[in-house]
Amino acid sequence: MSLEDHVEELASDLDVDKEEVKRDLENLVNYSVPMDEAKQSLRRKYGDGGGGGSSGPSSKAIGEVTTDDSNVTVTAVVLTSGRRSIQYNGEQHVIREGELADESGTISYTAWDGFEGELEPGQTVQFGNAGVREWDGKPELNLGDSTDATVLDERLDIDAEVGGEADLRDLEPGDRGITVEVQVLECETKTIDGRDGETEILSGVLGDPTGRLPFTDWEPHDEIEAGASVRIEETFVREFRGAPSVNVSEFSTVESLSESVSVAEDAPRMGVGEAVESGGQFDVELVGNVIQIRDGSGLIERCPECGRVVQSGQCRSHGAVEGEDDLRTKAILDDGTATVTVILDDELTEEIYGGDLDDAREHARDAMDKSVVADRIAERVVGREYVVRGSLSVDEYGANLNASEFGESTADPAERAKALLAEVEP
Ligand SMILES: [Zn+2]
Repeated sequence: MSLEDHVEELASDLDVDKEEVKRDLENLVNYSVPMDEAKQSLRRKYGDGGGGGSSGPSSKAIGEVTTDDSNVTVTAVVLTSGRRSIQYNGEQHVIREGELADESGTISYTAWDGFEGELEPGQTVQFGNAGVREWDGKPELNLGDSTDATVLDERLDIDAEVGGEADLRDLEPGDRGITVEVQVLECETKTIDGRDGETEILSGVLGDPTGRLPFTDWEPHDEIEAGASVRIEETFVREFRGAPSVNVSEFSTVESLSESVSVAEDAPRMGVGEAVESGGQFDVELVGNVIQIRDGSGLIERCPECGRVVQSGQCRSHGAVEGEDDLRTKAILDDGTATVTVILDDELTEEIYGGDLDDAREHARDAMDKSVVADRIAERVVGREYVVRGSLSVDEYGANLNASEFGESTADPAERAKALLAEVEP
């Protein structure tokens, strides 16, 4: 931006004479005051709203707000607004959270009591003196007592969509004020220790044409039951085992739909690297070669109390226990972009082992060695290509995929090679 442009911007923002602003700005710049500071000082001199007084923050484009800012004034369209009840200093508060957008980008916000009328999705609002804080490495606006919000008539030319209607595939932890239309695929009632003692919640799985995600309803709604198709407004998304999870609260409205929402049959197929980088996927399909069977596979023992794998008769939580036999496989899958550990339960393990738990016990007894079970599994699967579907979590224990389906790839190797080449060649 040239000095002339800055002058133009200031003069129109502050509604003052251009020549006057130019003289002032030139003066400051000649005294080696950095441009940003000089502009801020002129905004103060000519009294640019936003908190008023001599220390008002500068107006900023959302795309330019950084975690180094402490307070800013932004003019933005409210994209989403979701309520959440929280305890703060021993008191119950209802906060609003969502996203704002202007021409330059989007930013999340948290609003404390008192912004009901201003935070209607679709409205253009000037937020004067909004606090900036860092959340997950990114700036977020904190709208509190010192923030004034003014609804404007202006329309901004924004790219983002207003209203928070979303497909399950596109949800990310941190999304708020989201509306989904889904079919309830699984639903069970659970009793948990809540804020006010024991309370019942619902948890299960939702599906739509783009995918499936787990959900929790903290304030059970009658309309949510297995098989029902519903529209749920004002949900928020949290992370659960590395993947997004839809949260329904006391502020959500649930409406039964007369037409059934169709649900994607297949899980989206992703490269292993892409899936791992995403931080987790509730339902995903991966294709790769099994390169190794990890320790802790084959015939294993579990603690009867907690189900953890017992090693040398010791549970990590319960000490010496009488372990119960089980079958499990931990296979390392590699597609050239990254690896994941695929965990197969007893049923899937039986299939690739070619026998059940009794067969495995007999096999181990005959050989006087349990490891023969894992060895046979390795012989059968290592070096082969598999199509795996399941739930991927990525955390300090690595990238683990709990498989719901595990089948040898039927793709013809020649076809596959051609497809690969087609991807590589321009
Ligand atoms: Zn245990």
